[in-house]
Amino acid sequence: MRKDDCIFCKLANGDIPTNTIYEDSDFRVFLDAAPATKGHCLIVPKEHFDNLEELSDDVASKVFPLAKKMMKLLKEKLGWDGFNVVQNNGEIAGQTVFHFHTHLIPRYIDDGQNLNMKPSSPKEGELEEVLSQIVS
Ligand code: 5GP
Ligand code: ZN
Repeated sequence: MRKDDCIFCKLANGDIPTNTIYEDSDFRVFLDAAPATKGHCLIVPKEHFDNLEELSDDVASKVFPLAKKMMKLLKEKLGWDGFNVVQNNGEIAGQTVFHFHTHLIPRYIDDGQNLNMKPSSPKEGELEEVLSQIVS
């Protein structure tokens, strides 16, 4: 299903032209309008899902094979040195467009980007406590 007021529904389905690097019956992959690095693009399903929680298993099963294919294409064409695959869910996690999408971010030596997580030092027993909350 498509959502009338969703920009990514329009872009993915070709209602609004965009800088497409790949398209098939399920997805469009296009350049991010505000790229973090050269070649930063988005894998966007043509069907509307708000986020990963809502995503169908069928579409989900096709995302990583496509990410791998695009990674290879971008390696051949742009010659990246590293690669981040990022997928945000919810405002607090940095999601700004509420149509599921996956960021493909080629990385280059000295590209000035920093997508690294801030590590923490858990107190004694903290990890076990979390584990018991999740696995019980
Ligand atoms: P999010 O923050 O939701 O994970 O990522 C949304 C991404 O979509 C951002 O990186 C933003 O630059 C990109 N974006 C937002 N609107 C448009 C648009 O109209 N066209 C394109 N190509 N990218 C967009
Ligand atoms: Zn949508």
